[in-house]
Amino acid sequence: MSALLELQGLVKRYGGLTATDNLNLTVNAGEIHAIIGPNGAGKTTLIHQISGALASDSGRIVFAGTDVTRVPMHLRVQAGLARSYQITNIFPRFSVLDNLALAVQARSGSSMRFWRPAVSERAMFEEARALADRVGLGGQVDGLAGNLAHGAQRQLELGLALATRPRLLLLDEPMAGMGHEESVEMIPLIESLRPEIAVLIIEHDMDAVFRMADRISVLVSGRIIATGTPDQIRCNLEVKKAYLGDE
Ligand code: ATP
Repeated sequence: MSALLELQGLVKRYGGLTATDNLNLTVNAGEIHAIIGPNGAGKTTLIHQISGALASDSGRIVFAGTDVTRVPMHLRVQAGLARSYQITNIFPRFSVLDNLALAVQARSGSSMRFWRPAVSERAMFEEARALADRVGLGGQVDGLAGNLAHGAQRQLELGLALATRPRLLLLDEPMAGMGHEESVEMIPLIESLRPEIAVLIIEHDMDAVFRMADRISVLVSGRIIATGTPDQIRCNLEVKKAYLGDE
């Protein structure tokens, strides 16, 4: 497998606190790569650095062979690096279909063709319908997004992120606040993205992580202490001592 994302010596400091500390990580094309670690390990900071929401103090972020360390977030999205936001970018008073159609329009309208829609209305809604089917919301396209159950809203967020046609999707706790049944539905959905889309996922639900991930990296105090297959991580004594043993 080839590297799609390479993090080289990444550092983020908040005043005197070093949240990510000379961090190196590779995400391969088409893999589901999970980052686990105790609270405060730096997981969310890392996702912000990769997406471009936070500037890094040092180190390099190379995506698809291009150094994007200083590239603004919207251009990283255009290059195929997307993240799913947590509910905040859903329009609750719009239907599920309209939310997805707007996301398709936002992507295709990002070119300079502002004097006419970059995609026809029909193509936009066809793509929105396909996205709804893909994230398991095909039967709920006409409902208001704000009326969706929590799990279904997370599925919609995934659809909005997919509308950007990513090559790598960053997921920050996609199962947070979900009941068991909702999480069980989310797992095959994330797995179905592979191999077309690589996924870098932060998730506290260890059952889900160990079921889905091709590889897992363990982040402790801003540093990756181990990377391996779920079986390798499960058997890693250092990881057990630093993290899993406390679960
Ligand atoms: P959790 O699993 O609890 O969400 P995390 O692994 O995502 O934690 P981060 O949220 O990235 O960890 O935080 C890493 C460290 O940086 C923590 O010590 C946190 O208190 C600190 N931190 C995070 N954001 C800020 C900020 N904006 N200003 C100062 N310190 C911060």
